[in-house]
Amino acid sequence: MLLEIEEKYMEAERSGLLPYCVCNMCGHRFFLPRAHCPACLSSDVSVTASDVTGKLVAFTVIRRVFSEPVAVGIADFGGLLVHGNMTTAEGLAVGMEVRVAGASTSGSPLLAPAGRTT
Ligand SMILES: [Zn+2]
Repeated sequence: MLLEIEEKYMEAERSGLLPYCVCNMCGHRFFLPRAHCPACLSSDVSVTASDVTGKLVAFTVIRRVFSEPVAVGIADFGGLLVHGNMTTAEGLAVGMEVRVAGASTSGSPLLAPAGRTT
């Protein structure tokens, strides 16, 4: 069940959509793929996806010698807090709009400033 949920997450992310789970028993929405609802522990969980934009609530830029800087961020998509690698480490600001721009190798979505292609 969890593998099926994770595959649906990755498929949605690759399509530029935000995947999330919805509990069919209590209606709770949650971002990280899980086989059980964290609110009521039901295993009756569905995966859905949305094309909404979110607001960047926190980010950090990691700088390493001989490598391009990498940024990771947390964004609020209508109450769903989503973490992911940013597509850029330049020009980021708390409060800016972001969107899902694909899937990263870690399984979390790539987040990009809304309106940018990189
Ligand atoms: Zn539930």
